[in-house]
Amino acid sequence: MLEIDDGRTYAIDQLSKRADLTSALQFHLGCAHHVTEWVEPAFRALMKIPFKDISREIAHLMGPDAFYILSQAHTAIRDHLNILAFYPSDPIESVRCFRPGRCTEAWVSQWWQGVAKHLLHPDSGKSGREILGMLEEVSIPGMCRNCQKENVDWVKQTGVMTKADEYFEGAVEQIVAAYGSRDKGKAAATAVEDDEA
Ligand SMILES: [Zn+2]
Repeated sequence: MLEIDDGRTYAIDQLSKRADLTSALQFHLGCAHHVTEWVEPAFRALMKIPFKDISREIAHLMGPDAFYILSQAHTAIRDHLNILAFYPSDPIESVRCFRPGRCTEAWVSQWWQGVAKHLLHPDSGKSGREILGMLEEVSIPGMCRNCQKENVDWVKQTGVMTKADEYFEGAVEQIVAAYGSRDKGKAAATAVEDDEA
């Protein structure tokens, strides 16, 4: 038994070093052979591939259940970002504002010109966290620092900018629950075998 375990560890170690071990193949092998420590990192790597670049081969290696979880998460994230881009957060005017009226205009304009563009960018949009960082660091044209701070703090507090991360983590949790522990991985595989029988 010890020798079998050693052989298994050796095989896993050697396979890990292969340049042709893609995330999709690693995920597939991890699920099929209960190499549970491969499942989560491989799935995280797959989630980071732009959805349009998920080839038929990748989808095939993932299997229908995991591919469904991945595609649902991507759809939820895209929908969320579109809605967030389209509806600027309601501007707050600080009681310490020294440019009444103009700061709220500046906020809405910054949203359309800056935030929305990053949220909707087809290839290299910023993440919500990066956008929050940007809003904190830049000096929004035409806006006083009191208003800027209160508006950015409000957006941060609502959690909308980190919602996409929650969808991402939710998908990872579902995968880990189905394949990520040695027992559950076996149970999932057995269930599939039973279905096929
Ligand atoms: Zn102001």
